[in-house]
Amino acid sequence: MTETLFAFENSYATLPDRFYAKLAPTPVREPQLIRLNDALAEVLRLDADALRSSDGVAVLTGNRVATGSDPLAMAYAGHQFGSWNPQLGDGRALLLGEVIGQDDLRYDIQLKGSGPTPYSRMGDGRAGLGPVLREYIVSEAMAALGVPTTRALAATLTGEPVYREDGPLPGAVLTRVSRAHIRVGTFQFFAARGDIDALRHLADHVIDRLYPDARGAENPYLALLESVISAQAKLIAQWMHLGFIHGVMNTDNMSIAGETIDYGPCAFMDAFHPDKVFSFIDRMGRYRYRNQPGIAQWNLANFAQSLLPLLSDDETKAVETAQAAVDGFPDLFEGHHMSGFARKIGLSNPDDGDTALIGDLLRIMALADADFTLTFRHLAEFADPAAEIDRSSPLFALFNETKELDEWLGTWRQRLEDDPRTPDERKREMNRTNPAIIPRNHLVEAAIQSAYLDQDFGAFEDLTEALATPFDPKADPGLTQPPKPEEEVRQTFCGT
Ligand code: AMP
Ligand code: MG
Repeated sequence: MTETLFAFENSYATLPDRFYAKLAPTPVREPQLIRLNDALAEVLRLDADALRSSDGVAVLTGNRVATGSDPLAMAYAGHQFGSWNPQLGDGRALLLGEVIGQDDLRYDIQLKGSGPTPYSRMGDGRAGLGPVLREYIVSEAMAALGVPTTRALAATLTGEPVYREDGPLPGAVLTRVSRAHIRVGTFQFFAARGDIDALRHLADHVIDRLYPDARGAENPYLALLESVISAQAKLIAQWMHLGFIHGVMNTDNMSIAGETIDYGPCAFMDAFHPDKVFSFIDRMGRYRYRNQPGIAQWNLANFAQSLLPLLSDDETKAVETAQAAVDGFPDLFEGHHMSGFARKIGLSNPDDGDTALIGDLLRIMALADADFTLTFRHLAEFADPAAEIDRSSPLFALFNETKELDEWLGTWRQRLEDDPRTPDERKREMNRTNPAIIPRNHLVEAAIQSAYLDQDFGAFEDLTEALATPFDPKADPGLTQPPKPEEEVRQTFCGT
């Protein structure tokens, strides 16, 4: 008998058996730990040393089922690029169980890349090293940036190759952590089958687990819908504030917990353009930067549609109620969107007039192909409207033509005169809001390449460490700069 690595609870496994398929992970040849997230282990009350032991690594790679685990693949459906797919589900992931963190919240522990499941369809159930490192880097960066997200507890190697279009890759497993791996598509799965009993079980599970306040509402299921809409409005606004493009906002990749989930083809923009798309498979640009709020609302309309049988026995009333809730999304989003951008430009008392100011900045950034992250980061240098403008600031180097920038700086600094904060306070706040480091594509790609070519995880480690403190003014300049033209990564791939 080995020690208990996880104090697992298995609340999802007590739901009716049509919610999942229970099965164990498929063992691999040679489990090896790449990285364990000590800080997250602590939050989850886990013993990091035990997880690093050979027993621990065996569990994290799927070679051993941990004591107390009742592993299962969750069933779900979804709209993929707008097309309905009634049967998806965890095709290469297994929920091992749930743990209660130091914050008294419940977290799923899931292996991704742990072998085939009944939902694998034609897939091998495995994950390649590149996508696993990518998800580790970007999801942990999002967490450090304060964006709700699934987390990465560990990355391991399997010692087995996986075969993808571009040849064999080292196989890897990610241990993913989430408040709940429940998606819009999970609700759609049961709604499409007319399984109202299952829908009610699922909705009750989600309310108890994620939105307990909804229980006391007059209509708890409406309160659930509104809670998810609010969480998504906030989340998508946070993506927009960082120049983040999710890339595959299918309804099966939209979390009911309001977390960013599924880091396949996602990317942070370097040069700003509202129509930017990175994902190779997103040929129509459905999930381009500026479409993200609209797509979120479309997904939420599908969530609302799934909940109709729970909202009211009167069908007309159910539809009206759901429609009103979904119609509230644009205002909720816009509120977060504007207040976040106002914070980014150092305003503590934003008003309606600031919308135009923010829109103008984004417009001139797009015209100049200015780097999104650095433009906002450097603005803090001009936060004192009484100080002379230093034209040697790297801000000016981001714009080829500076006439419009000069004009904008003038208008903005005039506006700052009406803001109650002192320049020092403002500068501090801006530097707490606008990161110096984001996981730039070319750096993520370089870290992956050095892991592939030389089994060297040094660049991955360095990047991950640096991204843990993204607002640090002493950030390594090698990690803050945009790519040189020859380094630029123009496309990303799901890597599945
Ligand atoms: P995604 O594009 O990652 O959202 O995945 C869509 C669906 O394909 C989900 O049901 C995944 O579990 C499944 N899937 C993706 N990659 C694989 C794979 N290598 N093996 C089996 N199923 C997969
Ligand atoms: Mg997915």
